[in-house]
Amino acid sequence: MAEPQFRTPKGTHDVLPEDHQYMTYIKKAVRHRARQAGYKRIDPPIFENRAIFERGIGEHTDIVEKELFIVSGKQRTEESESDVQFALRPEITAGICRSYIEHGMHLLPQPVELYAIGQCFRYDRPQKGRYRQFHQVDLELIGLKDPSLDAQLIHVCMNIFADLRIADRLTLQLNNIGNAENRRAFLVALKDFFIGKERHLPELDRKRLQTNPLRLLDSKEEDTRILLKSAPTLDQFIDDDSKQYHATLVEYLDELGVKHTANPSLVRGLDYYGQTVFEFWDSSSGAQNAVGGGGRYDGLIELLGGQPTPGVGVAMGVERMIWHMKQAGVTVPNKDHVDVFVAQLGPDAKKMCLTLIAKLREKGVHTIGALGEASLKSQMRLADKFGAKFTLLLGQMEVKEGKIILRDMAAGKQKSIKFENAVEEVLKLLGSENLDTYTLRDHFDED
Ligand code: AMP
Repeated sequence: MAEPQFRTPKGTHDVLPEDHQYMTYIKKAVRHRARQAGYKRIDPPIFENRAIFERGIGEHTDIVEKELFIVSGKQRTEESESDVQFALRPEITAGICRSYIEHGMHLLPQPVELYAIGQCFRYDRPQKGRYRQFHQVDLELIGLKDPSLDAQLIHVCMNIFADLRIADRLTLQLNNIGNAENRRAFLVALKDFFIGKERHLPELDRKRLQTNPLRLLDSKEEDTRILLKSAPTLDQFIDDDSKQYHATLVEYLDELGVKHTANPSLVRGLDYYGQTVFEFWDSSSGAQNAVGGGGRYDGLIELLGGQPTPGVGVAMGVERMIWHMKQAGVTVPNKDHVDVFVAQLGPDAKKMCLTLIAKLREKGVHTIGALGEASLKSQMRLADKFGAKFTLLLGQMEVKEGKIILRDMAAGKQKSIKFENAVEEVLKLLGSENLDTYTLRDHFDED
């Protein structure tokens, strides 16, 4: 086959029908667990004013410094036209918080629980499990601060992972990074500690020491890790209230039976976090391919121009969940099978088939047919290739006699039946439990 002229851009991929089976399954699990816990669905736009991410996530984070996809646009008013820069969302939290402010959600009963599922974009170097376009499931609890909320949010995630049968492949890493004041004091001490030692730091970390020193804590660089062993620790700067909050959270997680690992190096890559931070790590490969992560962001809404409002949230990577499901040998129901193939010959037969096909579909039978003008024999071969369970054949002779041939593809047996009985016969053979009928409510669930 010739090389295709166009391919997906680097770091992106088509979500092919096979993977959609997994995606639909994941969305269903998320929907149920989210609804059970009182979350409502929200969909902020895929692009937002660039400043929302810069202010929220932090100017000196990797995501904002290196990974934003910028989209340029024009902002027109009656009098003037100016350039405006948007960014494709690298995550969904900042957009949801913008929406909370914009729609005055502080007037609703608090906490406001929202969830979203959708594409995110990061202009990162693509590698296994790291793409430029990927999907996140995002849950946010805004407007109230209580360790029971952090614990319940984590518990909902664990339930989702358990439903997907990947919970035992993941470990919950948990840390307390204190309040903004605690971190400020710690960072002063950390910077002091590194005075005179900068040259021992690898270049990237030397830069981070200036721009985002908290990230030194989760540095992968050996030299940095060695130096950190004698550096002040964040834990020493965390105040009593914050410690008490965390201890209560741990108690609640234990109460809920959620296993966790204390990880003093966990800081997360986004500036808006404080107090609770957590990640779900691959038990075998560790942080590199975390399946999800989140934490408390009590300052974010104020940063975006709202009233001081606490919040806690989590984001889970859909592609990474799918990867784990496949690794664990989890199979998901495939609903894309063909039940009936309708083969026909001649213009009259073709016309009659159209209503037959429509009737079968209406009853919940997956039906394809009336595909062209090919011979009955080659249509039969096609039916086989599509994996149809039954084939209905309508030739010129059958039309004349008011009959149709019903063939059981697996058994290789066929019989002639009355045309008017075709739908009923097929329904009987398939069994009512195998019909793909839906109520509107279920239909929305598939979206
Ligand atoms: P983060 O908030 O950056 O930790 O992202 C939350 C989750 O989104 C991660 O745990 C991953 O599962 C997923 N994720 C983040 N970045 C990417 C990416 N570039 N490609 C695929 N999944 C990603």
